[in-house]
Amino acid sequence: MKITDIRMKTASFQLKEPLHVAFGTISSYDSLVLRIQTDEGITGYGEAGPHEQITGESIGTCLACGQILTEALLGKDPLAIADIHLAMDRAISRNTSIKAAIDIACYDIAAKRAGLPLYRYLGGSDPHVTSDITIAMNSPEKMAADCVKWVQRGFTQLKLKLSGDPQLDLARVTAVRTAVGDAIELRVDPNQGWTVKETLCLEEAMRPLGVAVIEQPVKADDRAGLARVTRASHIPVVADESCHLPADALDLARREACDGVNIKLMKCGGIYNALRINAIAEAAGMFCMIGCMGESVIGNGASMHLAAACRNIQKADLDITFLTEIPEDGWIRGGFTHEGGACTLTEAPGIGIEVLDF
Ligand code: MG
Repeated sequence: MKITDIRMKTASFQLKEPLHVAFGTISSYDSLVLRIQTDEGITGYGEAGPHEQITGESIGTCLACGQILTEALLGKDPLAIADIHLAMDRAISRNTSIKAAIDIACYDIAAKRAGLPLYRYLGGSDPHVTSDITIAMNSPEKMAADCVKWVQRGFTQLKLKLSGDPQLDLARVTAVRTAVGDAIELRVDPNQGWTVKETLCLEEAMRPLGVAVIEQPVKADDRAGLARVTRASHIPVVADESCHLPADALDLARREACDGVNIKLMKCGGIYNALRINAIAEAAGMFCMIGCMGESVIGNGASMHLAAACRNIQKADLDITFLTEIPEDGWIRGGFTHEGGACTLTEAPGIGIEVLDF
């Protein structure tokens, strides 16, 4: 099989409500949808959801790098995924979101050719994945009210975005726990907002509140600090911004710097590297979580398939689809259905996405 054409299209999505996180406030996002055509008539779809503050990419850099990667990949076999990654890494270093778009499209093609939904192509057997929902950073009262609203909609796992103000953050978690009761799983993510000492104090205070996961408490580069936190913490600690590529996962494992890693296809360059990160983590006794950026159901759906395929991906934060306004004239269709956070993948081949207008 040969790649005959790669085309890109930008897409804009509106959030149902503005999302306040430690990086700032987001009310809409743009992504880049990518289509690969082949000489066998099979078409694959992928997506880049770039984030300047996480991967250093924008829609503009994705479009520019997408042109360079297109030149490097035309005529290549999309099923030879290791060769595709080698060619991409030789053409451009880093730029993991646009590489993820191409990687996802190649896996979509491979699974379609096998006549399997992607999660089965990747070795999975169960189409169900439970995702949390992210609760934007707000006053303790507003966050508690938002949490109650999502629990009433059927969500059983909540991820609280925190600001880095230790007293206020503790008040937020306390208010939420009081409002939702003990049966709901709470994850907290201050996005690098705490120092090591603040984290250690907060961890102790949050133990009786039944917090299930602390995500990226300290600065991304401070792996020694993350290891200090992990050694002392009773609550599992997950590396997010500290872990982009397989080499990061290996270094974190060697340092015993975390209990788990949060994989995002946009940080690691797609499913190929995500599988390698998961393998390193599993061998080191670390669990994986999977998260998303500003993506439509193409990128988020690919992550959902990966989560369904890998037993060691134990926690899913694939909530962008729930937070996004679905336009009535939606040109991207399919993917998965959900009741609350309980998602079920379709049995359509590949990612199971239909793109009506390209
Ligand atoms: Mg995070």
